[in-house]
Amino acid sequence: LAEKPKYKRVVLKLSGEVLRCSETGDPISWDTLRKICNQVKEIHQLGVQVCIVIGGGNIFRGLSGSTDQGVDRTTGDYMGMLSTVINGLAFMECLEKMGVQTRVQTSIPMNQVAEPFILRRAIRHLEKNRVVIFVAGTGNPYFSTDTTAALRASEIEAEVIMKATKVDGIYDKDPMKFDDAVRYDKLSYIDALQQRLNILDSTAFSLCMDNEVPILVFSLNDSDSIKRAIVGEDVGTLVS
Ligand code: UDP
Repeated sequence: LAEKPKYKRVVLKLSGEVLRCSETGDPISWDTLRKICNQVKEIHQLGVQVCIVIGGGNIFRGLSGSTDQGVDRTTGDYMGMLSTVINGLAFMECLEKMGVQTRVQTSIPMNQVAEPFILRRAIRHLEKNRVVIFVAGTGNPYFSTDTTAALRASEIEAEVIMKATKVDGIYDKDPMKFDDAVRYDKLSYIDALQQRLNILDSTAFSLCMDNEVPILVFSLNDSDSIKRAIVGEDVGTLVS
């Protein structure tokens, strides 16, 4: 495995669901979390500046919470954003225990829990080799953590958003249904739009397209997929 990273500064976007324990249904599987953090540590040791944007869907999603449980949409969205804080703190603890320095920055002020999001400070942390974990989404209801990733990646001038999904990239047809489905190595924003590939939600996608932030869609299923993606191996699909 080549050890030279292809990217210097990345945003790793993980949905909350990646943390859920498949056996017990618990929102956070500590075992899974450790495996992901080990991968983060590996790329961090290669000298990559890493930001993590974590979702909250394993705990609460505003839209489904509001339809299923009768919570107002905005309240539900704030509950969703707070869920991302819980997940972010779990990442912080896990990474710190592995000897990786972290800082958590929140879009909703809560001084006792995390630093406020301040762009220049976030960049400073990265330069000082700290992994920065962005929590509380954008701080606004009606947005998503995909949009948060697109926004923060634009702000910190990340070279790529690494979007972990269940599938290892984008295929010309559904790989679950068709054996002869072919994975794209690369795809343009326009092609992705025209084919109605829902890589990110539309707000997040247009932000990436407008600001020319590439999105690497890959799967976390393989034990070292984050590292392989970072050193430029052929994992996933790059949308740019
Ligand atoms: N959310 C929000 N504004 C944001 C980011 C998130 O209101 O800027 C809320 C929204 O309700 C969302 C929930 O937080 O459903 C969890 O985020 P998301 O669904 O993006 O998490 P994921 O699907 O990635 O786990």
